Amino acid sequence: MPGVDGRVAIVTGAGRGLGRSHALRLAAGGASVVVNDLGASRDGGGADATAAQNVVAEIRAAGGVAVPDDHDIAFEAGAQAVVNSALEAFGRLDIVVNNAGILRDATFHKMTVEQWEAVRQVHLDGTALVTRSAWPHLREQRYGRVVVTSSGAGLFGNFGQANYAAAKLGVVGLMNTLALEGARYEIRVNAVAPVALTRMTAGLLDEAIDLDPAWVSAAVGWLCAEECDLTAEIVRVHGHHFSRVRIVESRGVDFPSPPSDDELAARWADIADLTGAKEGQAAVAVPRHAPNGIRSACP
Ligand code: NAD
Repeated sequence: MPGVDGRVAIVTGAGRGLGRSHALRLAAGGASVVVNDLGASRDGGGADATAAQNVVAEIRAAGGVAVPDDHDIAFEAGAQAVVNSALEAFGRLDIVVNNAGILRDATFHKMTVEQWEAVRQVHLDGTALVTRSAWPHLREQRYGRVVVTSSGAGLFGNFGQANYAAAKLGVVGLMNTLALEGARYEIRVNAVAPVALTRMTAGLLDEAIDLDPAWVSAAVGWLCAEECDLTAEIVRVHGHHFSRVRIVESRGVDFPSPPSDDELAARWADIADLTGAKEGQAAVAVPRHAPNGIRSACP
């Protein structure tokens, strides 16, 4: 079974925690891995190249193939450099696992613009920029597996994490569009929403259940496998519990004219009824296989 055997993968933020676990999993499956990690603190400060180097040493000791990379993926030059690392070391690129992350928690009324931007830059901009640098190579070879890392905070909200939640739902929006644009090139784009015990969550989680990052890496490894044809899926992994998250739209209600507040309130139960709900679609939908995304079939 090919799985990820012989593929070349980038895992960002792979110097510890979930990223390290993803990198070990992919390498054990036969992928050559670029272990990217800036070696930042939990809030994104500082840098330490040994974070990536140590994981590479672990992979090599287990008989795997990996190279370290300590570029900052939050900015265009660093994101491009990570992709260049893959091309220089292994001559190709097949898999991108966007995992690097930081936290700068604050309630919204206390959140500074700097806290907002720093978190957005790593999670949303970094995911977009690394994937953007990889995209031409994936398209040209007509094959790619991309994973983005969302979060329950992004999908459902979390107190004190407006910056993080916005970025983590942002990567889902990115995923949904890249899944459409990558479809004809055999590029599959999916998300994981993990709950795992790492530096990021130390002291915050109920440690009564096994929250080893390896549970999440199982989903990542599968989503990166050649046999896995899923795209635009969100796989939530909470320790041993795996589930699927969807954004769905209710069947809804038609009004003959713009309704009043009272009319809306009176019909809200019908509008909100999720019986028969289905996946939504953009109001102005680009045909799935439109060349260059041209809106040829749109009104
Ligand atoms: P972690 O703090 O253990 O590891 C994150 C790694 O990302 C660190 O090694 C850090 O140096 C690296 N990093 C940070 N900024 C970087 C940058 N600009 N460039 C390159 N590397 C950078 O955290 P973790 O728990 O392993 O989190 C991994 C991902 O999973 C994050 O995106 C996080 O938001 C997400 N996540 C984790 C949980 C959880 O329960 N642990 C839950 C939801 C989402």
